[in-house]
Amino acid sequence: MARLVIVSNRVSVPTGRRVEAGGLTVVLRDGLRKADGLWFGWSGEFAEKPGPAKVTSRGRMSYALLDLNQSDYKGFYYGFANGSLWPLFHYRLGLVDWKAESYRTYRKVNAQFAAELFRLLKPDDHVWVHDYQLIPLGEELRKLGFKGAIGFYLHVPFPSGDIVEVLPAHAELGQALLAYDLIGLQTDRSHHDLLDFLERWCGAERDGDTLIHQGHRIATGVYRAAIDTVGFAKEAAASYQTPEVRNLEESLGGRTLMLGVERLDYTKGLPLRFAAYEHLLAHYEEWLHNVVMLQIAPVSRGELAQYRALRSDLERATGRIAGRFASPDWNPIRYVNQPVPRKVLAGFLRVAQVGLVTPLRDGMNLVAKEYVAAQDPDDPGVLVLSRFAGAVEELGEGALLVNPLDIEHTALAMRNALAMSKDERIDRWRRCLEPLQAWTARTWYDAFVHKLDEVAKAKGELPTAA
Ligand code: ADP
Repeated sequence: MARLVIVSNRVSVPTGRRVEAGGLTVVLRDGLRKADGLWFGWSGEFAEKPGPAKVTSRGRMSYALLDLNQSDYKGFYYGFANGSLWPLFHYRLGLVDWKAESYRTYRKVNAQFAAELFRLLKPDDHVWVHDYQLIPLGEELRKLGFKGAIGFYLHVPFPSGDIVEVLPAHAELGQALLAYDLIGLQTDRSHHDLLDFLERWCGAERDGDTLIHQGHRIATGVYRAAIDTVGFAKEAAASYQTPEVRNLEESLGGRTLMLGVERLDYTKGLPLRFAAYEHLLAHYEEWLHNVVMLQIAPVSRGELAQYRALRSDLERATGRIAGRFASPDWNPIRYVNQPVPRKVLAGFLRVAQVGLVTPLRDGMNLVAKEYVAAQDPDDPGVLVLSRFAGAVEELGEGALLVNPLDIEHTALAMRNALAMSKDERIDRWRRCLEPLQAWTARTWYDAFVHKLDEVAKAKGELPTAA
């Protein structure tokens, strides 16, 4: 069996002390352990002149970690990946901060990753590259002469070609994508847009879901990111008994909890969500004193100005809502910037009668799935879900769908969720749960790896020009 090599920007090496990583990380790590695999990526450390990647073994799998030069990392990660690609792929053209120098650094760091990885690769390894930070990695490996199968998985949306085209480097990124043997996307919509972009803008030909470019065949498909549904449900049920979760419940004093949990990111639609909550309190007076909104949003990418501005906006909105509606014995809003351990988070999600997942755009949104999995089957809560989250393709039947820009309608959905009968809650929850039982993080992993194996076999039989 071929060795599997996973490449991602950040690598989470279990230390025993750190809070356990989320579902996809766990499933990737389990898969690598079984396949005697290798996980390659940035060590999280900086070095003036980075040396070769350091390899450490953990049981049957190994990690190879590369230090990066700090100023290179800035250009690669903050400059291009999160200054240009992240806003562009989330349809936020106005936030794209294109700098040719940052793009060059992005290419340089990808070439550096490739050079270090290539030294560790065996000819028949299967390489699985993750996410928008590493789009050119496959092409760089090809330049170095690697001929084995390389797959790429995008964890964020792939927008329409009209949007991608705005990026001055769109054609180069298209060519880089065409160097892979397999490309996986989160949703049907992203899949459709990727095929369209590579065909119409980058000169690939289509044969169903396969692209053909200069004699090279690129398989594409939808592999929805998912969670360990059963495991998360168990965790939620167990953590219900922990002091943190009990304290939260007691602190509510019988009031209903609406909960939002995400990184502090402008894609998550938080200012609009706060505005919708304000509208709810102003127009549905029966909920005054009877509801609490808890927003947990740990700070992320604080080095970027847009993220700092968002933080200030939310602090102001929290103060405004509290000032306008709070009474001596009730504060309608709690806004927490600290991350919460996974186990506790699972319990919090179970306590909340309403889960608020209202991004402006999201590749999948795993929190939506975690909210569903965490519910008490006999008394489940209601998911209020943006129609622009990838999860809508699976949860659209049972969730209350909103356009987050429509504040009045989102407020109405919040009210309907708060007031929903138990029978309807159970019915909607079951409709949400079904797809999450059928397709889990494990299915996601197996499906991608299986396809990569298949693609590798086909490659062995057909000479390619790439
Ligand atoms: P993104 O990848 O854009 O951050 P997702 O919703 O797809 O969004 O995944 C986020 C993951 O991080 C989920 O597994 C979620 O449980 C976890 N997470 C998000 N916010 C927090 C938080 N405040 N504390 C702990 N875990 C969090």
